[in-house]
Amino acid sequence: MTHPVFPELSGRHAFLTGGGTGIGLAIARALARQGVTVAIADINLKSAEDAAAEIGNGAIAVEIDVRKRSSVETAFATAVEKLGGIDILIANAGVSTMQKALELTDEEWDFNFDVNTRGIFLTNQIAGRHFSQKGSGCIVNTASLAAKVGAPLLAHYSASKFAVLGWTQAFARELAPQGIRVNAVCPGFVKTGMQSREIEWEASLRGISPEQVFNEYVGLTPLGRIETPEDVADVVVFLCSESARFMTGQGINVTGGVYMT
Ligand code: ADP
Repeated sequence: MTHPVFPELSGRHAFLTGGGTGIGLAIARALARQGVTVAIADINLKSAEDAAAEIGNGAIAVEIDVRKRSSVETAFATAVEKLGGIDILIANAGVSTMQKALELTDEEWDFNFDVNTRGIFLTNQIAGRHFSQKGSGCIVNTASLAAKVGAPLLAHYSASKFAVLGWTQAFARELAPQGIRVNAVCPGFVKTGMQSREIEWEASLRGISPEQVFNEYVGLTPLGRIETPEDVADVVVFLCSESARFMTGQGINVTGGVYMT
């Protein structure tokens, strides 16, 4: 597959959360391919270190727990110091658990909101202050198809991701006068570790086989295949590029047509 090249991205520095696996790792690879130096921040330091070693181009690994302000501040400051500034934030760390809404516990609700929603707030605010001081910067948040449509067995996850789009729109309006753009991507059924866990959960909660769940996902996708992390990563790179200079506050669907508005 050929990838477009955005020469203006070469030499930029990105701070990427949840970059150790899945969609985040694909974004790290895609940014490095454009000549971006990436600080890969993950709660799993080993996966971040492995990713940084693999993608090269000066990439570094930092430990972060996006739920905690002090952790986000320390990780971001470390990256700023080591790389000499950050130009791009990709706020991608996320979790999902599956549960029937009638049986959902407070703990599951809080876990999803702490990582998916508070994590976006903290990383966006801390990077946003840095960008505001510099007078430039670009943010891409990972939302979800479930940020547009309430998904069964994922009420808590959907609610946490709807909130990400609300934040993205409001923050985009606040930072637009300084030329700082804030967008989100909304992936659909992406082939990652998270998806494998979801398929297992959904199959057991519905009493059907994982293969049946997988085939249902493909059947719901007009473009007729399961989504890959690379499908999402290419759109993230585009949103960081000058080609997306007049786009802000958007939640871009990358779903193979599962959701169309
Ligand atoms: P996806 O399908 O979104 O790629 P994964 O589960 O494969 O899902 O990846 C999510 C990433 O987010 C993982 O690398 C994981 O370690 C990271 N992550 C999860 N929770 C946190 C957290 N609290 N702080 C930072 N990173 C986190």
